[in-house]
Amino acid sequence: MIAIEKAKFLNFNPFCVENDIDIIIDKNIIIDKGKNIIKNYPGCEIIQKNKIVTTGIVCSHSHIYSALARGLDVKIKNSKDFVQILENLWWILDRALNKEMVEISAQVCAIEAILNGVTTIVDHHSSPNFIEGSLITIKNSFEKIGLRSILCYETTDRNGEEKTKKAIFENENFAKIIEKEKKDKGYTLTEASIGAHAPFTLSDNTLKELSKICEKTNRGIHIHVSEDRFDPVFNRYFYKDEPIKRLEKFNLLNEKSIIVHGVHIDLDEIEIINKNNAILIHNPRSNMNNSVGYNKNLRNLNLVAIGTDGINHDLIAELATAYYKNRDEKANLSMQDYLKMLDNGNIILKRYFGQNFGKIEKGYIADLVLWDYNYPTEILDSNIAVHFIFFFNSGFVNTVIIDGNIVLKDRKFNFDIDPIFENSRFQAKKLAENMKKMV
Ligand SMILES: [Zn+2]
Repeated sequence: MIAIEKAKFLNFNPFCVENDIDIIIDKNIIIDKGKNIIKNYPGCEIIQKNKIVTTGIVCSHSHIYSALARGLDVKIKNSKDFVQILENLWWILDRALNKEMVEISAQVCAIEAILNGVTTIVDHHSSPNFIEGSLITIKNSFEKIGLRSILCYETTDRNGEEKTKKAIFENENFAKIIEKEKKDKGYTLTEASIGAHAPFTLSDNTLKELSKICEKTNRGIHIHVSEDRFDPVFNRYFYKDEPIKRLEKFNLLNEKSIIVHGVHIDLDEIEIINKNNAILIHNPRSNMNNSVGYNKNLRNLNLVAIGTDGINHDLIAELATAYYKNRDEKANLSMQDYLKMLDNGNIILKRYFGQNFGKIEKGYIADLVLWDYNYPTEILDSNIAVHFIFFFNSGFVNTVIIDGNIVLKDRKFNFDIDPIFENSRFQAKKLAENMKKMV
């Protein structure tokens, strides 16, 4: 049993500050919370005191497979549009990945995520020459570091029929592994969704197969939709329908659906997403980097969460950018709206893990972040969002607890991270060599 003494707890739902709160954690659950209650739990270990505490941060969309892509020494062709960025960079890089590279990418991302206060990554994976077993490889890497996750493999028709089938099988098989683990151990740190690239690389037949797997495994689809204008244009031209309407036609929209980007979805499609209680993941830094545009109708969606799309795991930087971009575009969302989006990642966790996330209350899962932030003005219910979006940064993360385990304390892991990064640099060189043969 562990305790956090005299915490200043910042709650994002509803916005309120609680001062001098003791938090008691037993195994992976918060079992008590209140003022001066540690004396009621003799023998519990006080791990920190006088820290600011929030619930863990969820990165609701990421790609660990891009971890080694930083400044690769490979001559990539210049791209004139978004689809060429995919063809010239990402669809070469993902084909060049092998098991060792995926394994180290996941470890590096887990470490970086935790240092940023991220306790869960909702990942969307692609490695077409290492499909079978890729998800269990990521699971093992994440769990070794202590990170919670929801994983899927990106199904697409762009690599031929055989690889489409392998991808669907990998998703289904991984969901079965998770079910078995839950049955045997009673819980799991990793969950499974059903991955798909984007409607413009998925035939009707593949969508039908994915729909069957979603139903069979009781999971939802995790898919990019209308990230660039190309997706709706292509779908209207070839399939005579909008991307979201195609997903609805194949029963792929429900409360477990994770719809990513939606930069070019229209108001009718937003209504369909809302009607099906699905969630949309906003990744503004990636959208700006790819020059794909901006959706000014985000405020019409009932549920929006925040992801990084693989551009590191600094969700505070992502959140601040999201807010500034909205101001610049005059999209009429408030700072509180954005903090709510960050908190909405917990809705995905609740829907997939079936447990309570996102509050510091009795019976909730102990995914927590302890921060060092010297507040020059008092933090009040009314200004939590101002402090968090304008003045917090990920360097303030001091301690991270995931599933009741202390994975980071005083910004240190309880293992040596240097060999992992050394191996990562070695694997990145090999990845560049593999890519050079393909460009
Ligand atoms: Zn993505």
